[in-house]
Parts: sequence; C-alpha cells; structure tokens
Amino acid sequence: MQTITVLGATGSIGCNTLDVVNRHPDKYRVFAITGHSQLELLAQQAKACNPRYVVIANENQYEQARSTLTQAGVKAELLCGPQALDDVASAPEVDAVMAAIVGAAGLMPTMAAVKAGKRILLANKEALVMSGVLFIDAARQSGATILPIDSEHNAIFQCLPQDFVYGDLTSSGISSLLLTGSGGPFRERELSTFDDITVEQACHHPNWDMGRKITVDSATMMNKGLEFIEACRLFGAQADDITVVLHPQSTIHSMVQYIDGSVIAQMGHPDMRTPIAYGLAYPERIEAGVKSLDFATLSDLTFSTPCPQRYPNLYLAIQACKDGQAATTALNAANEIAVEAFLNHQIGFCDIARVNEQTLNKMEQTTVCSLQQILEHDGRARATANKVIRGLVS
Ligand code: NDP
Ligand code: MG
Repeated sequence: MQTITVLGATGSIGCNTLDVVNRHPDKYRVFAITGHSQLELLAQQAKACNPRYVVIANENQYEQARSTLTQAGVKAELLCGPQALDDVASAPEVDAVMAAIVGAAGLMPTMAAVKAGKRILLANKEALVMSGVLFIDAARQSGATILPIDSEHNAIFQCLPQDFVYGDLTSSGISSLLLTGSGGPFRERELSTFDDITVEQACHHPNWDMGRKITVDSATMMNKGLEFIEACRLFGAQADDITVVLHPQSTIHSMVQYIDGSVIAQMGHPDMRTPIAYGLAYPERIEAGVKSLDFATLSDLTFSTPCPQRYPNLYLAIQACKDGQAATTALNAANEIAVEAFLNHQIGFCDIARVNEQTLNKMEQTTVCSLQQILEHDGRARATANKVIRGLVS
C-alpha cells in the first residue's frame, strides 16, 4: 500500500491522478490533497478519497473552505498556507507525491518532497525549469526518485535502457532524444492572422485536455521549449542531444534514437492517465482506464520540423537552455506573467513571445546557484516582464 499526497488535486493532472488512484484502492491510500480556488471540487474529492488532510494554498480562504468542507460532510483536517503545502509533501507517512501545482507556486512544496526523499511524480515542469540542476542535486542527496509525468519525458523514460546513467547518453548508445509535439491549434493557421488569435482559440487544444496555462503554452510551443529544458535536466542531456519533432496526431509521445539506427518510441492515446499510472506503479504496470490503441484504425502518422516564425517561443527556450540557469529561470518567470496577461486580455497572442524576448534581453547576465538566488532572479524577471507589458499596452 502506497500513501500519496496530490499537490494540485483540483487541476487536470490532479483529477486524472485521483481517477487512477480510485481504480486501485488496494494499492494506494491518499494522505493529502491540495487545491487553490476550486473549493467545491476539493470538497467532492475529499469526500470520495477520504484523505487525512485537505490543504488550501491561500490562508484568506480558510473560513470559506472550512464551511464548504463541513457542508460536504468531509472529515479530513483542513490546513492552509505555504508551510502546510510543504508539510503534507514531506510528512513521514507519505511515500509518493504527485507534483501537479501549476507554475512557480509548485516549486517550494515539490522541493520539500524532494528534500524529504520521496518518490516524486513530476508534472510541474516549471519547478524544474526554474531550479534546474539544484533540483536534481537535491534529489540525489536525499535519495528521492523522480518519475517524469509529462507525457514526453515519461515516454523517453520508458524508452531508455534499464541501466541508463544520468548524463551519459553516449555510453548507453543513444544518439538523440526525439521530443514530439503536436504543434497546437495554430500549426496550419495563416501567419498573417496570428494577431487576431483569441483567448478562447488558444485555450482549445486539438488533442489534449489540460489546464489553461499549459494549453496556451502548447499553442505558442513554449510548452515544448520548457520540455526541452526539462529533458536536459531530467536526463542530463545537452541541448544538441535533443531534437523537437512535430507530430500532429500525438500518438507517439516521444522517442529515443540509438547509434545503431534503432528508434524506440512510446505510443498510446493522448490521455495523461497512462503516464500517471506508470509513475504510480513503476516498475510495475497497472490498469489506467485508457483504451488500447487500435492499429487498424490508425491513419497517417506524420512528422516535420517546427518553423521558427510560427513558434518563436520554442526557439527562445532552446537558446535559454544553452545560455544556462539564469536564462531559463527568467524565461519561465516572464512566460508565466505573459500568459496570465494574455488570459486576462491585456496583451495579444504574439505579445507573449515579445514579452519573453524583451525580458530576457533586459535581464542582467548573472549566475544563480542557490534557491534563494533563483527566487530573487525569478522576482526580478517577473518585475521586468510586467514593465515590458506596461510598455506594450501604453
Ligand atoms: P491546472 O491549471 O488544471 O491545475 C493546477 C493546479 O494547481 C490546481 O489544483 C490549482 O488549484 C493549483 N494551483 C493553482 N495556483 C496555485 C497556487 N498559487 N498555489 C497552490 N496551488 C495552485 O493545471 P494542469 O493540471 O494542467 O497542470 C499542472 C502541472 O502539470 C503544470 O505544471 C503543467 O505544466 C503540468 N503538466 C500538465 C499536463 C496536462 O495534461 N494537464 C501534461 C504535462 C504536464 P485550483 O484549480 O483549485 O485553483
Ligand atoms: Mg508534455
């Protein structure tokens, strides 16, 4: 029996995680679930999975959350605030932590779980992009196991040799990691009309059902850029080891190419319950509620190279990855601010890349080595991005 905490239970990954967990009551017990704004859903989830603790991030919502849980007949203890998030991620009773809070808000509780040596099911890519090698080093020191949940990284993980050594692709005979991406909803849209893209259009992904931030990131392909950085950190790869491949059908979730010409791909329906189940049960397999691929009905699988004019954010991220930690921390921060401004109708779709690029250009070249320095650099990048936005809209 594994005891788990689900950080970000009310989100898309969180709901899918509870769906898989609820299919296996003999294998998993929920210790804590956390949410932020969706109190009704959090109460329903608590009623269904009966955790010891329910945590909300925002202390100001304590009373409202208290009454919502009471009305739903939830018995779990309600905790609130950042320290409570860290506590339920690192409690001695917990074996595994699903890290599925979106954005930088997920960094500290995920780090708490890493430092406590937990089995980390890592969905929150922003935490890894922000803190990079520090995150990996902390896991090494504590003995934490990091299992990638992002479908591409989960796919690569499944395609690597059993004895793969972090950072040593060559001795495993690997020539490259092929990171696939659908290209999002605007893959074929006329470039001259990109200024007219609405929030509603950008929030509709053709293949995946996800939270709003990652859906916009998928439309700009910043998501693939963040994943590029994530892959470097998770597997100890260099930027030149990774190739991004457009694959609109999202049937292949990523591949590993070997020096003998073999390519090993992981395939399946675009349903996050597959990587979640793999992370939960690793190294075993459990049923995830995902139907089998029917090869008789699979039509064309197509592949191409993403175009820099259509996806400037992808290439900004690849460059930031080459430039180092300060650049990736700044880019992640700028992008969170830019996407929020786009979702709030303050800036247009093409402005997201403008904000990201201008923020990177304005940021001082520096080295960031500690968590404190990373958080300070993240704060400066957010302030710079906000300033760039004010300049764009004035
Ligand atoms: P959602 O927006 O659906 O969910 C985000 C979760 O984080 C919710 O539980 C939300 O609570 C909580 N949250 C939001 N803001 C805060 C905050 N300030 N403090 C604490 N909790 C907060 O996102 P997704 O589930 O789509 O994505 C989660 C993470 O997983 C992201 O990092 C994303 O990149 C990654 N990921 C997601 C995939 C997907 O298929 N969805 C695929 C691969 C990676 P509430 O809803 O109650 O406000
Ligand atoms: Mg992904």
